[in-house]
Amino acid sequence: MSEKYDVIVIGGGPAGYHAAIRAAQLGLKTAVVDAWAGKDGKAALGGTCLNVGCIPSKALLDSSKQFYNIAHNLPVHGITVENAKVDLGVFIGRKDKIVKQFTGGVDQLFKANKITSFFGKGKLLGSKSGGNNQVEITGNDGNKQILAATNVILASGSVPIELPFAKFDGKNIIDNAGALDIDKVPKTLGVIGAGVIGLELGSVWNRLGAKVTILEALPDFLGTADADIAKVAQREFKKQGLDIKLGAKLGKADVKKDGVHLTYSDKDGEQSLVVDKLLVAVGRRAYTDGLLADDTGVKLDERGRIVVDEHCHTGVDGVWAVGDAVRGPMLAHKGFEEGMAVAEWIAGKAGHVNYDTIPWVIYTEPEIAWAGKTEKQLKEEGVPYKIGSFPFAAIGRAVAMNEAIGQVKMIAHAETDRILGVHMVGPGVSELIAECVVAMEFKGSAEDMARIIHAHPTLSEAVHEAALSVDKRAIHKGN
Ligand code: NAD
Repeated sequence: MSEKYDVIVIGGGPAGYHAAIRAAQLGLKTAVVDAWAGKDGKAALGGTCLNVGCIPSKALLDSSKQFYNIAHNLPVHGITVENAKVDLGVFIGRKDKIVKQFTGGVDQLFKANKITSFFGKGKLLGSKSGGNNQVEITGNDGNKQILAATNVILASGSVPIELPFAKFDGKNIIDNAGALDIDKVPKTLGVIGAGVIGLELGSVWNRLGAKVTILEALPDFLGTADADIAKVAQREFKKQGLDIKLGAKLGKADVKKDGVHLTYSDKDGEQSLVVDKLLVAVGRRAYTDGLLADDTGVKLDERGRIVVDEHCHTGVDGVWAVGDAVRGPMLAHKGFEEGMAVAEWIAGKAGHVNYDTIPWVIYTEPEIAWAGKTEKQLKEEGVPYKIGSFPFAAIGRAVAMNEAIGQVKMIAHAETDRILGVHMVGPGVSELIAECVVAMEFKGSAEDMARIIHAHPTLSEAVHEAALSVDKRAIHKGN
């Protein structure tokens, strides 16, 4: 006889743990099944985001920024530090402590919310098992048990895509997790893919002294970002020493005694490069391996993602799916919202996810952030628009910080003035984008933003001035 829950969530990552906590808050008897083991072999909730993604990468980005600033920023302030060194053990250890604090934090939250946590791999069983919505759990010791639930939320996340000719070996050819645990700064690091992971983790090791070469297959840099923003970012990354080769298609990666030998082709023909280590960051795929029995009725699309409708429902009674395992951007905060919304829908409430205002952030220096449509998208859609922009070079606070790089670009509808997109590159833009998302969520106009008082002197004045500039009335620049 299996125990019956109102909700079983398979996967305790960002989407799954938000779903579980919200479900428990709404009075539903909830369990979570998660197989992630931390470095100590014990259960480590929080999925990719907390274990090998958002949080540890931000810890290393911050540590490496401190080190980089010693040589590249402090002298401007009249401060010199000689013989600065990095103790990589402490550097990585600090990150590990933060990870443990946060994965343990999810465990505490589960206890506080009376959520039952199972350490093992969950599989949704189908009709042959004697009724829908039974979950088989295979513990890490091999023991199996079966639980039943009125609702099952699949939140199994994603895994890095492996290139057949550059397979991960955890030592020479690594994925994002491997790039968070390198024990000696490599002299040279090759990166395949100038996407979010390639740029963030490439920056970390570049700041510590590795010569980083990034090979990107596409001809355009950061094609998903607004072109003006991508151009500034590309120029700054080059200044920092990141060697980004566009239109470079990797053909082969052979591990030899002296490093990883890469063969790639670009507009000039076949090229070769030898690197100490190779990080492959060419995107992620939905992780559904072993998740579904053959007869569940849950469908996967051509990219292996779980098919869901606009309410994250799979079409099978009581079975939902959220986060990286379903369509939409692979961003933790998109998963958070889907998880909470599904719990609310299950409880008969009005869940809500607005896919049009999801903010994107890349935590490089300068940071990159945007929400809404790019100029290119609006052109393709034939939507009339007007643009306002403002450079951080004219923002007193940014200059005082010696971080006066980049700009805010606001795009509004040419007739209604409604804000359609905001694109930023510069200091602290990961935080500045939030007010633009609020404005867009409330269907605000550029004029609304222009009339809102922003504190002086702050970086947020760049958003204010960009809004004024939409109507050609920025104060601190020519219009
Ligand atoms: P990505 O999709 O951001 O970038 C992958 C890049 O690799 C693309 O530019 C692609 O053109 C390129 N590429 C693909 N195949 C290639 C090949 N054979 N040779 C050379 N280049 C190739 O993927 P990612 O950086 O691996 O990140 C994975 C996911 O994780 C993304 O969905 C991302 O949004 C998410 N993520 C988000 C954050 C953040 O929000 N700050 C941070 C890390 C990861």
